[in-house]
Amino acid sequence: MSCDCCNSTTKKPRAICSACGQNCFPVSRQTMLHQVQFPDNQDIAEGDYSCCASPDCNTGYFSISDMISKTRLRAFQPGRQAMLCHCFDISEAVYQAALDDGTAKAIKAFVVQQTKEKLCACESRNPSGRCCLASFKQMEKAHEC
Ligand SMILES: [Zn+2]
Repeated sequence: MSCDCCNSTTKKPRAICSACGQNCFPVSRQTMLHQVQFPDNQDIAEGDYSCCASPDCNTGYFSISDMISKTRLRAFQPGRQAMLCHCFDISEAVYQAALDDGTAKAIKAFVVQQTKEKLCACESRNPSGRCCLASFKQMEKAHEC
């Protein structure tokens, strides 16, 4: 499942992160303006940027001529928890605990419901600009193994 804000970015060609080689997806200017910290968000260069979602890579966003490291993004500041759902403030640790104690279904159902009603804010709140529901699935899969 995905929402409109994700679908709009899936048609553009993908770029390769020069630092880690990951296949990356395009990211909108709106996402960058909300994710890059002040004052760096004041002078983001023109051009098409992509987002490197690899947790081990320091590249946050990159274009042909520019690179913005993860350390300049709000979501990756020291002391911040790794987030699963940025829209509704659900950390990976919280969801992992919920998977362990059997309460995860209700949490995910809440997120799915809000997403259906278009009350999510992926494009602004998620550094990838994309829907987090795929990440829920990944964590569930990892939990089953
Ligand atoms: Zn990378």
